[in-house]
Formats: sequence, structure tokens, C-alpha cells
Amino acid sequence: MDLQTDIGQFPGVGPARKKALEKLGLRTAEDLLRCFPRDYEDRTKLCSIAQAPEGENVCILAMVAETPRLSRIRKGLEITKVKVVDEVNAMTVTFFNQSYVKDALRPGESYIFYGKVEGFGRARQMNNPVFEREGSARFTGRIMPVYSLTHGISNNLLAGLTQRALEVCLEQVAETLPSGLRQEHTLAALPFSYQHIHFPGSFEELELAKRRLIFEELFYLSCGLAFLNKRRGKEVGPAFPSRPANEFLSLLPFSPTGAQRRAMDEIAFDTMVGRPMNRLLQGDVGSGKTVVAAYGAWLAWGSGFQSALMAPTEILANQHFTTLSSLLSPAGIRVALLTGSMKAAEKRRVYAALEAHEIDLVVGTHALLSEGVAFARLGLVVTDEQHRFGVAQRAALAAKAELHPHVLVMSATPIPRTLALIIYGDLDVSVLDELPPGRTPVETYLVGSDKRERMYNFVRKLVAEGRQAYIVCPMVEEGENVTAELKAVTAYAQQLQSDVFPDLRVAFVHGKMKAKEKEAVMAAFAAGETDVLVSTTVIEVGVDVPNTALMIIENAERFGLSQLHQLRGRVGRGKHQSYCVLLSDNRTPETRDRLKVMTKTTDGFVISEEDLKARGPGDFFGKRQHGLPQLRVADLAGDMRVLKEAQTAAETLLQNDPTLTKPENRRILDQVKRLFAENPDIFN
Ligand code: ADP
Ligand code: MG
Repeated sequence: MDLQTDIGQFPGVGPARKKALEKLGLRTAEDLLRCFPRDYEDRTKLCSIAQAPEGENVCILAMVAETPRLSRIRKGLEITKVKVVDEVNAMTVTFFNQSYVKDALRPGESYIFYGKVEGFGRARQMNNPVFEREGSARFTGRIMPVYSLTHGISNNLLAGLTQRALEVCLEQVAETLPSGLRQEHTLAALPFSYQHIHFPGSFEELELAKRRLIFEELFYLSCGLAFLNKRRGKEVGPAFPSRPANEFLSLLPFSPTGAQRRAMDEIAFDTMVGRPMNRLLQGDVGSGKTVVAAYGAWLAWGSGFQSALMAPTEILANQHFTTLSSLLSPAGIRVALLTGSMKAAEKRRVYAALEAHEIDLVVGTHALLSEGVAFARLGLVVTDEQHRFGVAQRAALAAKAELHPHVLVMSATPIPRTLALIIYGDLDVSVLDELPPGRTPVETYLVGSDKRERMYNFVRKLVAEGRQAYIVCPMVEEGENVTAELKAVTAYAQQLQSDVFPDLRVAFVHGKMKAKEKEAVMAAFAAGETDVLVSTTVIEVGVDVPNTALMIIENAERFGLSQLHQLRGRVGRGKHQSYCVLLSDNRTPETRDRLKVMTKTTDGFVISEEDLKARGPGDFFGKRQHGLPQLRVADLAGDMRVLKEAQTAAETLLQNDPTLTKPENRRILDQVKRLFAENPDIFN
């Protein structure tokens, strides 16, 4: 048996289990070693029957004193009782619906029972303990790993398989980190770490194992990201000579906030020197990022360069197109739109105009990445709501330029510092930490559906005052029954119109509608021709209808906090007091606490930190759309110190061997490639 041995060769793994294990990503012995526990259960505490603390999980070594008695109470309820004794006392052990116990426990033999002891004196007892024969104990008397499981795979089975894999393969595990590095950062050896991350002899050993594995993972991550950043560092970018900003400011219907001015200055400075800018523009919803992007496009145009702005949805691309062309065309800047739903002929016209430099700014969706798109002189790439685009997509757009273009990434998701550090590496950051004047914070309420009538009345009252409202319903993730869900949402919208708001104008928009239809619905809403817009989350990103003063979110518990924050950001954009109502009948304390965060703060950073804590970084970005590899042990929210250390170590290593081609570093390169298997282009 070796590391590559198929998991199907393990004793006890038939075809059904093999399949279930595959679902967990487990195919080989090595996969078992690399599938780390998600938690641990301390089963080390050994007590006598008399001394076992009430209600706490402990191990008790005791002899079975009689033949277990099995009684069938009724259909579906079988009870097995047996008396066990240690040197001084006796207790009763009871099992529910585990009749095999009757034959498994033999009188006169000693076992370790792991469970909670209840009752006092002669009435001490244990229910449904885990038990193992003394001497052959594997899962008691130790720190027990707790794995993520799937149907048909129990924790004991997985622990057993892993133990077996460790027994037969651990010697073949080769160290991946150079010994100098390990010494410098006091990192345990890899075989030790595999052994003790699964079956630690003590919590100290567990810490050592974890530290090494976390460091290693973050080290490879840092190496890979450094590759990515380095590819950029040496590039030559276009130079936009400075121009008086007043010319641009005269195009605006308002004066910019201080934060907008700062961000604009930073962009002007970055783009002046002939090195590609790489800047993140972070600003909460409504902070006015679009104007800053427009300034970038204006600078590029003034220097004879084209710009491209990529938005994640058609609705948003449309909106940006409208905003930017009305802002910039008075200056003579030629703005065009390019989206997937446009007719082929229209698209071809845009392609040709881009190539002939008859367009200065093109606003679009992923369609901008299509093969047909070629620029005459692309100087600036702006991506809006960047976390929806992977690293690779940003690179693909940039690759359409001869010179490496300037890149401005706009994000409305306040990204926690820990994550920003990882994802953006050496990206420069501008923060819009100031909202345009005249905004009043949105009042937020968390209510159950018993308040539904009152809420509908509130909608009616606001509409009577001339305002509009959004009602957002969650959509299921793909894989679940999308059609059924859509039907439910559609039916809800219809019912609202016919039963609840016959007197109001209700419209409906969802992600599966044709782009043209969506556009029409959104345009009507923006024009105030609709009072209530029911929608799935398509309005999540960027839509701007300042007259909307109420955001109702159904089944709010199904959204992450950051998403709720984005949704709430759709209101409170005008001069009217705005409201957000979170509807949820979910009563679990964690959910209530999570949702209550929304009622207490409108600070996007606070909310995103809470979200990161509650759901981890993977969920934070939706379905791994950040384009970063999935981490196994490291926790981006918690392992900040190790992260810094690993980053420094990676920098040092790459200074000496920038391409990791020295023989002693070949293993590291292999591991980095393995971690970035889904982004192979970073190694070019
Ligand atoms: P976001 O940062 O969410 O993309 P937008 O760029 O859509 O924000 O701006 C939100 C709204 O605020 C828009 O209606 C925009 O015209 C307006 N706005 C932006 N900057 C200012 C400003 N300095 N003063 C007044 N209104 C502004
Ligand atoms: Mg925006």
C-alpha cells in the first residue's frame, strides 16, 4: 500500500462507500491524510464511576457484570440495559435501539465507556455511550478527530480509515518544506503533522501540527500570489499626463466629496508615471464610486487612450452606460455599450468601432471578454463589484491591451483587512469613507411574518407619499429546484398584485428573464411607473433608484450579512427617510443574533467582519468566485499572524529564486501548482 492506493482497497470500503467517500473528495490514501478534522472531541478524561462529574463527557473503565437485557418497549423502541462495575462502584448503562450491544458486551470483560454520567450514588447511569474493549481502544481515551461527513460515512469509519492510512503510509510521506525554513519558523515535520492533526497525543501536539500545516498552506498561497503580482510589477503602462481636474468637475451636477477627491488624486498620480496602476476603490454602497471611475475614463480619453468598464450584470452595465454617457458625452467622450444580449450585428458594430478607436469608453458585461473584442488603444480597465470576477477574468481583459493597462477595481463589499491582504496582495487601496451629503441612515427592523399585514400597510402609506418599494425574495442555489422556486416567487408577486395591492402597480423581475424584459421592468421602475418591485436578488448589485424608500427582504435568514447590506444599500439613496424590513420566522439564537447585527449598524466593515466570522471566507464571496484556491486548514479570519509570517517567508524565498526553479525549491513549486491547480495561467 502506498499514498496513491485507491481508497476502494481499504478493508470495509465497498462500491457504495467508495462513492460516498468520493463525494468528500477522498480517492486515495493520501487524500485521507490530507482531509483534516473540522474539530476534536476530548476523550482523554478517565474517571471512576463515583468521581465522574455529572453531565460531562468522560471515559469510564468498567467491567460488564451481567448479560445485557434487551426489552422491546414498543414498535421502534428497544432498550438494552446492563450493569457495569469498576473497582468500587456500579452503574447502569442503557442503549436505545442498538440491540447489537446485547452480543457485543460480554460479561466479565472490561470496556471503556465514553459518555455522560447522570444521577448519584447507586443510581449512577450512562445513556448511549461509545464503548470499546479495554486494550484495543482506538477511539476512546484520546483526543478524537471529528470529520466533515456525508450520508453513509460515519465519523468512526472515516477515523478508522485515516488511522489505517497513517499506519501504512506515514513513512512514505516526504517533507515538502526545506529544513532551513522549518527551523527558522519552528515548524514541525510533515509526517509528525499528519499524524497529530488527525490523532494528537495532546493538545500541544495538535497545535504544533496545525501551525505547520497552516503555515505551509499560507506559504504556498503567498508564493502563488507573489507570482501573480510579480508578473505585473515589471510591466510598462500607459502614461496619462496630468490635466486640470476642474474641467472634469464642471461636468458633474454636484461637487465631489472629500473622499472622492482623494481617490481621484490618487488615480491621477498613479496613471501619470507610466507604470500600470493597480488600485482597489473600496466604498460602501452609495458612496459614489461611479464618478471616480468616470474620472479615470476622462483621464484616459484626454491622453488618447480607451477605457473599458466591466459590470457583473446586464442591468448594472445598462445603468452605468446611461450614467456615464450622460456625464461624459458633453465633453466629447464617445461611450458605447456591449452586452451579451445585444444582436450579433450590433455587437459587430461595437467591435469594429472599438478597433477603429471610434469609441473611448465601452461599458459592458462579460461580453467584453469575448474573442471578437479588440481595442485600438486600451489604457484603463475598470471592473465593478470585483468579487464577482475572478483573478483570471481581470487578467483576460487586461491582456487585450498592448501596453499593460491601468486597472481600477471597484468593490462595494467592504472587504475585511485580512482578506484584502490575501486577495489583493500589493494592490493599492483608495477608500471612499464618506457618503455624499444629505443621506439619512436607513432604519432597519427585524420582524416575523405575524407582522406581515402591518408591513403591507406601511408599503401603502409610503407609496401614498410618492415613494417606491422593493420586495426581495431569496433564490435557491443552483442544483435545488430552481423552477419550483421561481414559480413560488412569481406566484407571490401575482398574489401581491391581485390580493394585497390591487390599487398599486406591482412588477416583477428575476434572474431567468430575458435581458430585454429585465431592462424594461427596471426602466419602468426607475421612471416611477411602478410602485412595488418584487425581485429575486438581481437588484443586489448597484441599481440606483433614489426614490425607493423601502426594502423588504423575505426569508432574510437565507442571506449572508454582506448580501443583506448590499440589498439595503439600494435604499437610502435619496433625500427621503428610508426603511429596511427583514422578514424571518427563524427562531434559532444564532440566526437572530446574526440578523440583529443589521438593525444595529450600517457600517459595512463591521457587517463584513461579522459575516466573515459567521460564515468563513468561502461563503463571503459566494461560490468561490474570488478565484482563489480553497484552503484546507488555514482560516483567513483567524490566522492573521501566521499569514504575515508566511508572506514574509515567501517574499524572502522568491527574492533568492524568483521562479522557484532551483532544485531544492522544486517541491515548493509543485505544491504551489497543486494549490493553484485551477489557475494554471499564473505560472506563465
Ligand atoms: P456606488 O458607490 O454604490 O456605486 P454610485 O456611484 O452609484 O454609488 O452613487 C450613488 C448615488 O450618489 C448616485 O445617484 C450618484 O449620482 C450620487 N452621488 C455620487 N457622488 C455624489 C456627490 N459627491 N454628491 C451628491 N451625490 C453624489
Ligand atoms: Mg456602483
